[in-house]
Amino acid sequence: MKSGWVDSEAQAAIDRYARDGISRDLALRVYTTRLLGRDPKLVLHGGGNTSLKTTMPDLLGEEVAVLCVKGSGSDMAAIEPAGLPAVRLDRLRKLRARADLSDEDLLRIQRASLLEPTAPNPSVEILLHAFLPHKFIDHTHANAILSIVDQPDGEAICAGLYDGRVSLVPYVMPGFGLAKTAADIYEAKPEVEGLILNKHGIFTFGASARESYERMIALVTLAEERLQKNRKAVFVTAQLPQAIASVNAVAPILRGACSRKDEKIEGAWRRMILEFRTSPAILNFVNGAELARYGQAGVVTPDHTIRTKNWPLVTIAPARDRMDDFKRAAQAAVTDFCERYQAYFARENARAGGIKRPLDPLPRVALVPGLGLFGLGRSKEDAKIAADLAQCAAEVITDAEAIGRFESISQAEMFDMEYWPLEQAKLGSAAEKPLAGEIAVITGGGGTIGRATAKAFAAAGAEVALLDCDERAAADAAKAIGAAALAVKCDVTDGACVRDAFARVVAAFGGVDIVVSNAGAAWQGRIGEVDEDVLRQSFELNFYGHQRVAQAAVKIMLAQGTGGCLLFNVSKQAVNPGPNFGPYGLPKAATLFLVRQYAVDYGADGIRANAVNADRIRSGLLTDAFIAERSKARGVSEKDYLSGNLLGREVTADDVAQAFLHQALELKTTGDVTTVDGGNIAAALR
Ligand SMILES: [Zn+2]
Repeated sequence: MKSGWVDSEAQAAIDRYARDGISRDLALRVYTTRLLGRDPKLVLHGGGNTSLKTTMPDLLGEEVAVLCVKGSGSDMAAIEPAGLPAVRLDRLRKLRARADLSDEDLLRIQRASLLEPTAPNPSVEILLHAFLPHKFIDHTHANAILSIVDQPDGEAICAGLYDGRVSLVPYVMPGFGLAKTAADIYEAKPEVEGLILNKHGIFTFGASARESYERMIALVTLAEERLQKNRKAVFVTAQLPQAIASVNAVAPILRGACSRKDEKIEGAWRRMILEFRTSPAILNFVNGAELARYGQAGVVTPDHTIRTKNWPLVTIAPARDRMDDFKRAAQAAVTDFCERYQAYFARENARAGGIKRPLDPLPRVALVPGLGLFGLGRSKEDAKIAADLAQCAAEVITDAEAIGRFESISQAEMFDMEYWPLEQAKLGSAAEKPLAGEIAVITGGGGTIGRATAKAFAAAGAEVALLDCDERAAADAAKAIGAAALAVKCDVTDGACVRDAFARVVAAFGGVDIVVSNAGAAWQGRIGEVDEDVLRQSFELNFYGHQRVAQAAVKIMLAQGTGGCLLFNVSKQAVNPGPNFGPYGLPKAATLFLVRQYAVDYGADGIRANAVNADRIRSGLLTDAFIAERSKARGVSEKDYLSGNLLGREVTADDVAQAFLHQALELKTTGDVTTVDGGNIAAALR
């Protein structure tokens, strides 16, 4: 591992922050924190932290000694000075004299000691930084260090490797106890460059930002070199089926197995989003004959447990021609997983005084021999974090097994970490949105109504995929929604294209729960004279397009076994034909019956089918030029033309989007048509 320190970049950081009145020390603290944060072999997702001891004026302008320490759970790679809140150092140091300190008291004392009252909560490892004397302190969960300390004889290996350059701290849960233990051990030998925390990670320190950072790099490099020596070949591969199923066949089954019925609301499910990873290193790990031992032995560092749980789900290898076996085995494996988790909770909670409330028992990581690993979460973001940590764990455990035998902390220690309120606080306490964990596909996603609908579903917590034959329009719309939104080029008049698009959605999120089949276009012609080709073209898009999309979605929904929701953009033309609009209205009328057919055929599977009949929406179908032309032809203003309905209100794409959203949330409604047209008695359904 090489130092990332570059003199000119360090100076640039000093100069840049000086313009905001930030001191040289704090600028360099930010610079090296970012250097650590950008290397996933050192820190991942809010793990690790850094600090600086300096003086600063408080709100009254009086200079005070402070500890600037990373905010809890924040990302080191993108940290700014405000991400290192300043806390009055003398107050923190006084706490060392106490025999014990509750979490509540620590939280209150540290908040009351912040120089800036609105600053983020400091790292849970704040006291360890406060009790050590050094100006700069760096802490990481470096992979190479973990591979060495996650061993039955980890401390002995370190003692030999570091030859007095570091002191070793036995495993103690992070917090007040660890801070006191680490400070005592440091003081017994104050010439060391750092502390190695058994089963947890490493601290280095120094008089300058560079010294502390480069000690980290040097000590981690020694561990990396040690891991290259006397390696055993790992792992011996298990017997696997000849042909392994694809991720597209496996993901919906796994996702269904990891979903749970909502006990309070009939028809509702608590679902997960999946993130798939594979590589030669991951396959080597999940294909090992002893996966059940080393893969289930526990977390590589205690901080991972809130994201990955203490052990992953392990399935059988999915043979391509025996997916029914895989489904049964996956469901049984999830049931066993949940029972094991509940037993762990009951046992450890009794030990802890019975005061904790259980978290959901579902896995956050799944290992699938022959295929790879999945991260699971209630959002794509959470699933990615779980996958990153699982990938890191696979690497750490592989190296640990190559030089010895991987060993984690005990289940009691894992429980104390998993149920520590200060760790749970990292996950935030915001209420979940109504569509959290659900995956929505919107066709015609690049158009006005598609965009508005995708935006409404994303705002309600769903992960969204926008399909459109105009790839650029879909990409623009997805970009406006956020990083997790997926854009896929898809022409719904082409069956292979539809199948490929759904395969991409499954690969990205793990399945499909809601489809808004919205792609359409208008053809006109007097029905007695219109060319048959025009009619056929319109049927291809306005009827068969919906059927292809619905069929592709139903296949995935049945594999998941957790119901689903098919929503169709029909049209008032389906019930109230306009003159010369036969080529548009006829396939839409067929689509209205398609909705009812899906409602009839798949109600028993929990799959609902509903439609929205909208009219006169400013969109790709009803362009500004068309509106100007039609209103002129009728001798009314554009506004009067658009609001020519019973309520006298213009109907917008957002109104249509809200109707689709409402239908997605109405768990007891299927075969329904909702009109969004401001009121048109001639188009009313009866
Ligand atoms: Zn740590």
